[in-house]
Amino acid sequence: MTYDPDNIFSKIIAGTIPSHKVYEDEDTLAFMDVMPQAPGHLLVIPKSGSRNLLDADPTTLSKLMPVVQKLAVAAKDAFDADGVFIAQFNEPAAGQTVFHLHFHVIPRHEGQPLKP
Ligand code: 5GP
Repeated sequence: MTYDPDNIFSKIIAGTIPSHKVYEDEDTLAFMDVMPQAPGHLLVIPKSGSRNLLDADPTTLSKLMPVVQKLAVAAKDAFDADGVFIAQFNEPAAGQTVFHLHFHVIPRHEGQPLKP
């Protein structure tokens, strides 16, 4: 499987589609999920093109993962959560719908179900 730059997150990076950005640096962007599974659900993506974790290069991941961690801590604090769910899907069979690597960061509260 190859990376197709004609995807919605590529357009968010380019600024041709709006998003609610919560973090940005030279290599990484984070923004709120348009259909949150719980309050504070955000997505962290590399600016470089990887289809998913299966084709991501180590350099991309080494820049991305510290941001995932930083935003997980920040989201837990900001939403006064009990924990943080990190999710990442690879290929349609595993539930991936947008084919640009992304990590879901979802603050979680005790006893609060995720939306179906
Ligand atoms: P996945 O590919 O891991 O299944 O999920 C893709 C995620 O991207 C979904 O949670 C969906 O709500 C989110 N999403 C899809 N299109 C947009 C968009 O245009 N803007 C934002 N902010 N999120 C989106």
